[in-house]
Amino acid sequence: MPNSKTLTRRRFLGQAGLALAGGCLAGRLPIAFAEGGSAEPVAGLGLITDVHYADIATRGSRHYRDSLGKMRAAVTGLNELGIDAAVVMGDLIDSAGDLESEVRHLRTIDAEYARLEADRHYVLGNHCVHLLTKDEFIENSGMTSPHSSFDLAGVRFIILDSCFTSEGEPYQRGNFSWTDANLPDDQLAWFEQQLDEAPGPAVVLTHQRIDGLEGPHNVRNGAAARAIMEASGKVMLVLSGHSHQNLHEQVNGIDYVVVRAMVEGAGGENNSFGRLLVFEDHSLRLEGHVRQADVEPISAPG
Ligand SMILES: [Zn+2]
Ligand SMILES: [Zn+2]
Repeated sequence: MPNSKTLTRRRFLGQAGLALAGGCLAGRLPIAFAEGGSAEPVAGLGLITDVHYADIATRGSRHYRDSLGKMRAAVTGLNELGIDAAVVMGDLIDSAGDLESEVRHLRTIDAEYARLEADRHYVLGNHCVHLLTKDEFIENSGMTSPHSSFDLAGVRFIILDSCFTSEGEPYQRGNFSWTDANLPDDQLAWFEQQLDEAPGPAVVLTHQRIDGLEGPHNVRNGAAARAIMEASGKVMLVLSGHSHQNLHEQVNGIDYVVVRAMVEGAGGENNSFGRLLVFEDHSLRLEGHVRQADVEPISAPG
């Protein structure tokens, strides 16, 4: 991983214990804490979510236009820090009233994301496919598939697409309610197989949440995804966006982190992005930048 040594010294010295670690629950892989300062990360994944870029006026706390400069700063920062790959975890654009504008906004913000000197991945958010079809999103961005997976330093990262209605219809052309997010059966079967075939621990990336803790921001059949994850014993962490706040919870031995939305607040001082660092023993640590929180240590249960 480029520059990891520099960044470790610059950013981590003295920040002991900001670790995300699994416990020793039955059925889970034992995952050790990485003590801050004592270990070099072996891989890094940039995390950006809920960019909501659109050339429209601010509404409430959402500063849509500012997201262009925030994305530029985040990509520059991640390039300097050094990462192997990054994920935009949904809602890359916001609604603009017509298809042509939304395509233009997607191309504009994706051109900033494309300055990243590392592999780019995408999670679909409800705003990504408010008017666009999923194929149109793919045609106008660097996304190759709505659900996918990749491996980094022995950890499998699995991207899920919950932008389906209860009837199994893919979101497009305003055909959905944002609270009606679902994972279709065929994707759940694919998910189970991905975990089955994963060589080691796994991290799951979703836009809508699957922690089961807060109604409207959760995937309606999230319990099915949780059952698959808990049975696999491989999932350390689920990263989501969609509810826009910093949040960290643990449910049945799996850590669930909501990454803070980039669109919230004016100007660069309200930017947010993170890096998920992978250590040789597969322990993880989320390093937050600007308004993104570091993830605090979790005591290993029992
Ligand atoms: Zn959002
Ligand atoms: Zn959303």
